[in-house]
Amino acid sequence: MIKPIAFAAMTIGLISGSAAYAQPACGNAPVRYDIRHGAGTTFHVEAEFAATSGQFDIGWRTAEGTEDGPVDFIRSVEGRDDAGNWHAADYDGYGTWLLPEADTRAYDAVRYDILAEHDRAVWNIGKEEIAYRFDDAFYFVGSPVLVADYGWSDCTFEVTVDGPSDWTTVAAWAQREDGTYQADGLTELLRNIFVTGPGLEPRTMRIGEMDVTLLAQDELREGGPALETLLDETLGRYVDLFGSAPMDRYLVVFGEGRMNDGGAFANSFGQRVLSPLRMSEQLLWSRLLAHEALHAWIGITIRPENAFDLQWFTEGGADYLTAKTLYRSGQIDEHDLIFTIEGQVRRFLLGRISSGSIGLIEAGVEKQQNRQLVYGGGALFHLFLDAEMTARTGAGSYEAVMRQLYENSNAPYSIERLMQVLDDASGGSASEIYAFLNEPLNPNAVTERLTRIGLPTAAFGPDELLVRFAAGNCEGTREARCVPVYLAR
Ligand SMILES: [Zn+2]
Repeated sequence: MIKPIAFAAMTIGLISGSAAYAQPACGNAPVRYDIRHGAGTTFHVEAEFAATSGQFDIGWRTAEGTEDGPVDFIRSVEGRDDAGNWHAADYDGYGTWLLPEADTRAYDAVRYDILAEHDRAVWNIGKEEIAYRFDDAFYFVGSPVLVADYGWSDCTFEVTVDGPSDWTTVAAWAQREDGTYQADGLTELLRNIFVTGPGLEPRTMRIGEMDVTLLAQDELREGGPALETLLDETLGRYVDLFGSAPMDRYLVVFGEGRMNDGGAFANSFGQRVLSPLRMSEQLLWSRLLAHEALHAWIGITIRPENAFDLQWFTEGGADYLTAKTLYRSGQIDEHDLIFTIEGQVRRFLLGRISSGSIGLIEAGVEKQQNRQLVYGGGALFHLFLDAEMTARTGAGSYEAVMRQLYENSNAPYSIERLMQVLDDASGGSASEIYAFLNEPLNPNAVTERLTRIGLPTAAFGPDELLVRFAAGNCEGTREARCVPVYLAR
């Protein structure tokens, strides 16, 4: 089952300006992209489509080391009018190109070059969201390199990727027998990864009804089996929890990085991890990977009507449920679970200090600036909700409402609809917890509340924290027998 995904919700902030013209009709013919490797780091792209106006865009952002972000790596944009003449486009800023008489003349093709040297720039959101050299191959996300008409939201797309005979392509798009890729909408086209070049060794495994393809850079291949086990365990548990997989294909690409970072897309996610993969850092990369994988359900399928409203819910939910899943699947122990919960509490308290008394929604508008509050506050929301729903209606009731949200995610969620579903299932606890977490800093109230749900917590100031398990008449330990029922294996 492939669920529809709101384009605007996923790319907000990337789209500049707005189309002043009527939406182009796609007709029955798909928009065709032909991506062809030229010499060295150059790719030539040509797209053909039913006649449209002359405005084209890429996903734009600023980047250190560039004059104009991803635009630095797009060259010679030209469009063909319906009389068959090619015209050079004028660059209009913010990733927008305009062909002559863009509003009134009809165009049916664009062509341009990609200079795949994106590693020259520092991408503050992580290069896995843009493009980078992948050993001898090239990693791309569609949005910063595919010039498109943003009125094509409901079009279908066909993509061919050509290179020398020893090259292969690994893409998140569905592939037909003739090798052509197919994307069922603009989001699927632009918010996905494709990697092309020599030496790629993808591995595909079947999890639930999903084909999961894993592709790793050379240096990370030794860690392959550990990563495969992790994905198999976590994705399998997510499928069980939510009742199905939100997509039938999933591409996971691991690149080496100086820091751990990840980006989740429509049918794919890109993860960068320190190489070589160290088992001493397993807790960290496991959490990151399981978090990004969980976004397929929470964040991409359960998604917001208004892009920023649910950042706290989706990021915090991904963090909380990741920790719980890793513990329940035996991939982390009680010590790592406590360490993770302590981190979430500390993040929330420190986030309250650094971000001030702003609400969780407001914090999500500038997510990077308010990371601690968004992730910490969101994780505590899910933790408290799980504890209170379990106490009220028994183990598994939190999972049941998450599943209900997923099953009703044909439409995106407004904050009101989300809270309504959660309140109906929790007897109003959701709204009460949400209001509690939106209050000004009060470490005592937080530690007391944690203590009441079987997680006795002591704090010295907002940063020194000690959390223990104290279910089942335990004094407060890190032993399995004392883990509260909502977290217990
Ligand atoms: Zn996330």
